[in-house]
Amino acid sequence: MRKFKTESKKLLDLMINSIYTNREIFLRELISNASDAVDKLYFRSLTDKDIQLGKDELEIRVAFDKDARTITVSDTGIGMTADELEKNLGTIAHSGSQEFKDENDFSETDAADIIGQFGVGFYSSFMVSKNVKVISRPYGSDEANIWESNGIDGYTIEPATKEKHGTEIILTLKDSTDEDDYDEFLSEWKLRSLIKQYSNYVRYPIHMTVTKSRALPKPEDAGEDYVTEYEDYTEDEVINSMIPIWKRKKSEVTDEEYAEFYKSDFHDFTDPARTISVHAEGALSYDALLFVPGRAPFDLYTREYEKGLALYSSGVLIMDKCADLLPDYYGWARGVVDSSDLSLNISRETLQRNSQLRAIANKVEKKITSELEKMRDNDREDYELFFDNFGRSIKFGLYAGYGMKNDELGPLVLLYSALKQKYVTLDEYVDAMPEEQNDIYYAAGDSIERLSNLPIVKTVARKGFDVLLCTEDVDEFFLQSMHAWKEKEFKNVSTTDIDVASDDEKKIAEEAGEANKELLDAMKEILSTNVSDVKISPTPTDAPATLTTAGPISLEMERVLSQGPDADRLRAQRVLLLNAQHSVFETLKTAQESGDKDKLRLYTDLLYNQALLMCGMPVEDPITFAEEICKLM
Ligand code: ADP
Repeated sequence: MRKFKTESKKLLDLMINSIYTNREIFLRELISNASDAVDKLYFRSLTDKDIQLGKDELEIRVAFDKDARTITVSDTGIGMTADELEKNLGTIAHSGSQEFKDENDFSETDAADIIGQFGVGFYSSFMVSKNVKVISRPYGSDEANIWESNGIDGYTIEPATKEKHGTEIILTLKDSTDEDDYDEFLSEWKLRSLIKQYSNYVRYPIHMTVTKSRALPKPEDAGEDYVTEYEDYTEDEVINSMIPIWKRKKSEVTDEEYAEFYKSDFHDFTDPARTISVHAEGALSYDALLFVPGRAPFDLYTREYEKGLALYSSGVLIMDKCADLLPDYYGWARGVVDSSDLSLNISRETLQRNSQLRAIANKVEKKITSELEKMRDNDREDYELFFDNFGRSIKFGLYAGYGMKNDELGPLVLLYSALKQKYVTLDEYVDAMPEEQNDIYYAAGDSIERLSNLPIVKTVARKGFDVLLCTEDVDEFFLQSMHAWKEKEFKNVSTTDIDVASDDEKKIAEEAGEANKELLDAMKEILSTNVSDVKISPTPTDAPATLTTAGPISLEMERVLSQGPDADRLRAQRVLLLNAQHSVFETLKTAQESGDKDKLRLYTDLLYNQALLMCGMPVEDPITFAEEICKLM
């Protein structure tokens, strides 16, 4: 009996007592080793004329025996000599071994981490097996050897017989206990689904003998009441689909094939809106197949939603959802990335440090951006649908980017134009601005209809300035975060920030303010804590009074923030603007001049509450408001 090397022993201990939940990956590891071994033989055959291989000679086979409780994975690959068995399976042969040696001190709870970090390859078979036999015969040799181990003490290597070159690995599964079921692997269905899940795109056929059922021929003398009888039979079947769809040229794949792949792999019942196929070669070589879904999953904006692309290394699945491959604002994208430059055992921790992966992520992001730009320019209807589905993610990206993402994501934004009555991009808005317009105007509220009817929106529009109507909670926040577009600042039309009045209009308002100072002061006192000021509007609307805000928080922002923890502190500073040209203004003046304080209070209250309602805000005291209206009636 030969002893395992120290570090191998430690890893094996971990493996055997593993709390690692993902033990089913053992099959993936063995198949991927088999595929590598077939690869090696195949590559050698390309340069060595003495090696004549039939195409169907390169294969992998998975079998199981329920009674013996064994699973066998065999390949017709390059095989191993006795020395190679010793060298490869007696120590940790993979790239992680050195680091693993450096990290000698670990507890059992680190098992999952270590398994993830360094990969486990062949040793993962000990997660499910009490005994492992490896019978191998190198190509071109008559001699075969058997390596055998229980994974605990050590291993033996003895001469053996094997008919063909290649390697056969026989796992005898551990006994099932109440907590751990190993027998689940002894089923055709389970093995088939593991192969499909993890190894579907391995380049060589993975065969399995499967049991099927067929109807027996109807006997000639069968009566009227004959019931069809069935028999089981076995058949050889290739389980994996082999050629990954993402490796194929876009011109060779039909839209239907892409759609089918998308729907079955990503569990969606709607066709994708766009399919992006990337084949990169050179310093960084990878294939990617990306999808823009046709609809948003119901959980997209919840904590449960997990973003990420499937990550493959040469057709072998490494990770289901590699989050690092997608920025949050493209978190809705689905797809796969396959790169032969990545190690199979790359783990979550090392992914972040992996520069190749980061480079691929960058490229993926650029591809998605350019596809969206193309859609925006050539297929506006599709793009609007896309934006209805996923625009919020992009807006969140702009919000979180605080200006840093303006260049990349800004051009992708669509907002509703009050003048054009359809979606426009920010560029389209700016291009259509009259020369005298300095800022980008927007209004925020809960519906396009209500916003279009806002007196101030109508007034601004009448002056020939467009207003972007923002109806999503995130809208005003992301616009503020962007600050400006093409050097034009974003300004909410319902704030004192906007400047659409002409010099004449400003002058008239100022003079009216001075002439009616007493009235304005009296109204300000009545509204005391509610407003910070009462003024004459320089841009009168159709309404007798409108509410605007001064300072950074608008009424719409206040409404959104009122659901958060700092609601009380984050109140908009309100300014009531009066329309001096409206007949109601005369009524106010009369009430003030006659010294009827109750009347002035009543009118002021009513005007303020009306203004609130027009902005889509609730009146502060609805009962008093209703009573006040009754009084007038
Ligand atoms: P890794 O595959 O990461 O190198 P493993 O522990 O899985 O690590 O395998 C160690 C080595 O054993 C492999 O590098 C390979 O040389 C050899 N090996 C494993 N399985 C086979 C096989 N089926 N045929 C030939 N060689 C194999």
